[in-house]
Amino acid sequence: MDVRPFWLAGRPTSGDAELTVTNPYDGSVVAVCSVPTESQVAEAVAAAAAVRKEAAALPIHVRAEALAHVSRRLAERADEIAHLITAENGKPIFWARGEVNRAISTFRFAAEETRRQGGETMRLDTEAAATGRLAYISRVPHGPILAIAPFNFPLNLVAHKVAPAIAVGAPIIIKPAPATPISSLVLGEILAETGLPEGMFSVLPVPNDRAADLVDDPRLPVVSFTGSSPVGYAIMDRVPRKHVTLELGGNAAAVVLADADLDWAASRVALFSNYQAGQSCIAVQRVIVEESVHDDFVSRLVPAVEALVTGDPADEKTQVGPLVSVAAAERVEQWVNEAVAAGARLLTGGTRDGATVAPTVLTDVPRDAKVSREEVFGPVMIIQTVSGVDEAFAAVNDSRYGLQAGVFTRSLDNAFRANREIEAGGVIIGDVPSYRADQMPYGGVKESGSGREGLRSAMADFTYEKVMVLTGL
Ligand code: NAD
Repeated sequence: MDVRPFWLAGRPTSGDAELTVTNPYDGSVVAVCSVPTESQVAEAVAAAAAVRKEAAALPIHVRAEALAHVSRRLAERADEIAHLITAENGKPIFWARGEVNRAISTFRFAAEETRRQGGETMRLDTEAAATGRLAYISRVPHGPILAIAPFNFPLNLVAHKVAPAIAVGAPIIIKPAPATPISSLVLGEILAETGLPEGMFSVLPVPNDRAADLVDDPRLPVVSFTGSSPVGYAIMDRVPRKHVTLELGGNAAAVVLADADLDWAASRVALFSNYQAGQSCIAVQRVIVEESVHDDFVSRLVPAVEALVTGDPADEKTQVGPLVSVAAAERVEQWVNEAVAAGARLLTGGTRDGATVAPTVLTDVPRDAKVSREEVFGPVMIIQTVSGVDEAFAAVNDSRYGLQAGVFTRSLDNAFRANREIEAGGVIIGDVPSYRADQMPYGGVKESGSGREGLRSAMADFTYEKVMVLTGL
């Protein structure tokens, strides 16, 4: 099998070690990737630092054309890339195609958004002392970005960092997750076609124990991290003076109020507790149901969960595939068993076959069980019953996380109440917490992180406002 090169300052390069990527479903080898040496990592950082000013001065039309090119090429190679995502991640091909489509639109939207960076003028002569003065406000990149990405959306979550970086004119170094580097390496191939200046991007599949070199390097003033809360906070503690954005974990709640469309709610909760085998930071984990509709809702939900097609992720019909590894599946199985031993009732699922965990629904779960308090990151949901709206929103907030929440209701009053009361970065009315459009602001409160992604928000995050005051006008 050919060894895939990594990307060092825009050039395909080989190091002196290799990383083997395996398919979580059957353990087959998907690819062997070259791993950069320490000096090659240092070279990539030096190149990013060297191109910093040139990148910031890139004409808008050059950035826009590069972004549009990436979008077009992702579309042309969509089928191939979707299959690679399925192979490296175990994600069913149906969802992998969706991920590629989202990345296509992220880059297309970035090509449009980069053209909207006009800067702003502000008259200062509102006070006599400032007569004749005018401010021009522009946004300037902080500098080269270190992008650290998780395994669960290996293309899309990298796109969320690369597209805004190019849009604002900032070099970027991508550190993909060791389990899923291939999507980033393919994105590197496409970025290399754009003609962006050397040093503008590198893709460095370094192992976790060497990522600290990149995190510490003062020439990378921005760390854009998506991943688990412990790793994210360890990075923030390590480099408190850097501009660190954290997109972290969650145990998202879907609230089903008495006025909800129960068929719709059951079908959405069933699917989005189990999509990506539950390995999404906004997969439905806690289902909070108003008592008066509990039985009607659960009688719809359980059959909908049992109807999900589980199996080979390469099969077009599969909706639920394996977790990223057998070890991850064993951990989820253990958490379910612990909850059951503590008194929870299994309504369906609870079994494991290799890396695949059957879609699982638990009820009567003790509040301190891990499946309730922690992030399961597997195809497991727990059902909680509440007496009314206040108790429902309090139950959502009874979590140390706060990424997004979903509220199934047809009442505008409940919608605004949910928005006021729920502590989360986003509240999705009429759907699951898992809804995300890639241009909307996205991020968490509490231990789900700080800072926002979504194209415009990430462009703001990667830049600072700079003011020039003109005198004597
Ligand atoms: P992880 O925290 O284990 O790894 C994330 C990235 O950090 C990987 O690239 C990993 O190699 C790297 N990393 C690990 N140790 C490091 C260190 N010491 N220094 C620097 N980098 C290091 O997370 P994961 O298992 O890949 O992904 C799952 C997690 O990501 C879940 O908690 C999930 O909720 C979260 N996530 C959050 C969002 C969001 O937008 N909020 C989106 C997707 C996933």
